[in-house]
Amino acid sequence: MSVLEATPPSFSADDVARIAADVAGVDGVATNLGSERDQTFLVEGRGSSVVVKISNLGEDAATLDLEAAAILHVAEVDPELPVARPLSVSDEPGLAAFRTTVRGPAGTHHLRLFERLHGREPAAPLPDRAVRDYAATHARLNLALRSFFHPAAGRGLLWDPAQAAKLRPLAAAVGDVERRALVTAVLDRFEENVAPRWRRLRAHVVHGDLNVDNVLFDDAGRITGIVDFGDVTHSAHVGDFAIGLASLMRGRPADVFRVARLAVDGYASRLPLEPLELDVLGDLVLARLAAIVVISAWRVARYPENAAYIQSWDDDSWRLLELFGELGGDRFARELGASPSPTATGELARRRARTVGALLTRLTYEEPVHALRAEGVWLVGADGRRLLDAYNNVPVVGHCHPRVSEAVVRQTRMLNTHARYLYEPLVELAERLLATMPAGSGLDAVMLVNSGSEANDLAWRLARGVTRNDGALVTHHAYHGLTAAVADLSPEEWPAGYEPPHVARVSPALDAAEVEAAAARRPLAATFLDAGLTSDGILPPPKAALQALVRATHEAGGLFVADEVQVGYGRSGGHLWAFAHLGVTPDVVTLGKPMGNGYPVAALVTRSELVERFAFAQRVFSTFGGNPVAARAALAVLDAIEDERLVAHAGRVGDELRARIAALTHPAVVDVRALGLLVGVQLESSERTNAVVESLRRGGVLVGRTGAHDDVLKIRPPLVFGDEHVELLVRALADALGDG
Ligand code: PMP
Repeated sequence: MSVLEATPPSFSADDVARIAADVAGVDGVATNLGSERDQTFLVEGRGSSVVVKISNLGEDAATLDLEAAAILHVAEVDPELPVARPLSVSDEPGLAAFRTTVRGPAGTHHLRLFERLHGREPAAPLPDRAVRDYAATHARLNLALRSFFHPAAGRGLLWDPAQAAKLRPLAAAVGDVERRALVTAVLDRFEENVAPRWRRLRAHVVHGDLNVDNVLFDDAGRITGIVDFGDVTHSAHVGDFAIGLASLMRGRPADVFRVARLAVDGYASRLPLEPLELDVLGDLVLARLAAIVVISAWRVARYPENAAYIQSWDDDSWRLLELFGELGGDRFARELGASPSPTATGELARRRARTVGALLTRLTYEEPVHALRAEGVWLVGADGRRLLDAYNNVPVVGHCHPRVSEAVVRQTRMLNTHARYLYEPLVELAERLLATMPAGSGLDAVMLVNSGSEANDLAWRLARGVTRNDGALVTHHAYHGLTAAVADLSPEEWPAGYEPPHVARVSPALDAAEVEAAAARRPLAATFLDAGLTSDGILPPPKAALQALVRATHEAGGLFVADEVQVGYGRSGGHLWAFAHLGVTPDVVTLGKPMGNGYPVAALVTRSELVERFAFAQRVFSTFGGNPVAARAALAVLDAIEDERLVAHAGRVGDELRARIAALTHPAVVDVRALGLLVGVQLESSERTNAVVESLRRGGVLVGRTGAHDDVLKIRPPLVFGDEHVELLVRALADALGDG
């Protein structure tokens, strides 16, 4: 016989007072506290009081031992959790000491005593802070229970959300047709959305009924007591949270979801929920509400004398179920944190155009990439299609690399603040970056900022301050960033006719005579160079030409700024930094893009001797620069590059990719150039390049375009690009180029 089908005990208060005196030596008055299927009394004597629990005849000793063991486990693991402990009532060894028996008219019942905890019933409704605290305490309880095991925990109690399917036959007890339909709809959703995924949810032994009526509070709304482990069972912890959450949502029609979300925050502050758990939370709350009304209807028919207790939560539960009926389950679930389904691509593009379209650059590709998620070298679109990402250098260690994601999430949960305070991540990152600079380079000072533009802007300020000159030298079609100062150094973005007088340009060949003339045009503050000449069309210079450029810069009195924003972080395949790979020593190095694998973080590295000559030294501050989360992301990137040996990998795969494309010997391919995994494919015309890029995109491969004439395919994948991806890309490229 199950505990829900057995007849509840029916001892009178006087009986219980006598029993308490006998068993516990507490002489006092017994008050019935109410119970679904057992009897629970508070016996208050002079000086001492105790809670007496008499089980129904269906209860077995193993389950009671499970309950006692769970409580004792919690008390040991997290002693601050105010759980009501069992009191020993016999000399039996082990857990048997916590139970005895008592004879009643219908048979012999188990009897237990629990310590009495003080506190009051919850204020209705609970204030916001109490809601958060409540949920945080619930999470703590689950954290304490997750190491607990007991063989009786697989008990299959109908109240456990895992058993929701068993409510179906009982739903007939709900008389009202419309209401019964609501219950059926909840169970249908459960069957469709939750049941198939149930066994992927984290599970352990849980309280099973941590609703607000099983908790006592102090005047400030803090929890002073957790009672009634009578439904303890092995189940999903998120299902257990849904039980508490459903109780918090009762009786607050005006702001039910707002409060529910505060509770989710409170729970997650101790025990973050996984995406799947958030996706099923709404349906678990609904399943709990359905369980309340169905079990109530079914039990009331059997035990009308306990109707008042059994039906206590019905009205509020129906109200919430009716809300579900109005809003629909998807909306109900979304309000509690389930991930929404993607917007239609066309609509999203229109909204983008309306809000940011005036200033922001246009979307790439005729058929825009509406990206939902990504992993490694793959992007997944809203249409569910996988796209091979051979274009994005920012996710240098692969999209959504777990090392980086975890570092960000963990640090976000611990501390994120600004650089006026002292914390480890910033200092560790600065040390790690300096350690990557070539020996003897003298590069010993770091400033952390948030974007490549900012790093270059600061480099430009530094160069002008130190040299007291204001001339700049850049390549013909360079890009160095978006601030007013460095936009002037970015001819790629200059509108027609725009030509700042202080900026001299040299053609990508870095012809010695041209360089010298350009450097001398005006007193030179700095030369900025992206060593891959990415924007100029991926034209990595020969070492000698680069070395001559550095020499000419110094002779003209300027600083040489190696802009590693694109080519840094191992892309060159020979060294973490392209300048080192190409054998030059810059005065300033700027880093960005891949530095945080997508998390905004950037840096400038230079010599402290130069900084000391800068009037603004020690006055430079960037609110977010080097913040703990950004620094942790950047450290994780460096770790992953090292552990996965990505620099050497990029060199090998880059060589292979270049050779395979060159071997296509297609008449439209004019030249194939590479610096490690930065590969440029010069085609016969910009029209051809555009057609190939669009065709590749339609075929599921993403590459870009670059060069002064937009006639170069830009292939710049995450460094985890492997041989199989080379194969896919080369085959797709051959297809896109066609026969002639
Ligand atoms: N320098 C180079 C070489 C770049 O490619 C870029 C970005 N494309 C920048 C600087 C500017 O970086 P951010 O967009 O992070 O400001």
